[in-house]
Order: sequence, then structure tokens, then C-alpha cells
Amino acid sequence: MVDYTIYDVIEMKKSHPCETRSKLFQIVRLGADIKIKCLGCGRILMIDRAEFNDKIKKVISHNEGPVPIAGQK
Ligand SMILES: [Zn+2]
Repeated sequence: MVDYTIYDVIEMKKSHPCETRSKLFQIVRLGADIKIKCLGCGRILMIDRAEFNDKIKKVISHNEGPVPIAGQK
């Protein structure tokens, strides 16, 4: 099982079905449900913890706060 915490940038097993096809997401909320932000398009997805644990591949880096998305309005 992958050890992760709030604001970690993580890689998922599957890419986000958006135009950037990013596999990198940042954890922006940890609770019963987990919110992750796609670092390609900036959209936030809510996913339940069991499903998240199944879909996370690895932690890339830890950050002190949200990572801004390049080009996001
Ligand atoms: Zn995306």
C-alpha cells in the first residue's frame, strides 16, 4: 500500500480522460473521500478511499500547499 498525505503529488495507474491525459494528480483533501486535482487540466475529482488506494501507483513528491496549474484561468 502506498503511503501518502495531503498535498502529495501522486501518479495514478490510469490517466485522466482529459485533453492532457495526465497521470499526475495532487491530493487536495483527505477524508472519507479523497479529492485529487489533475495536474494537466486542474479539474478536481472526488474518489472514495478504497478506490483511491486501488488506483494510486506511487507518490512523486510532497508539497506544502496546492500546486498551481499552468495556464489555468
Ligand atoms: Zn485532467
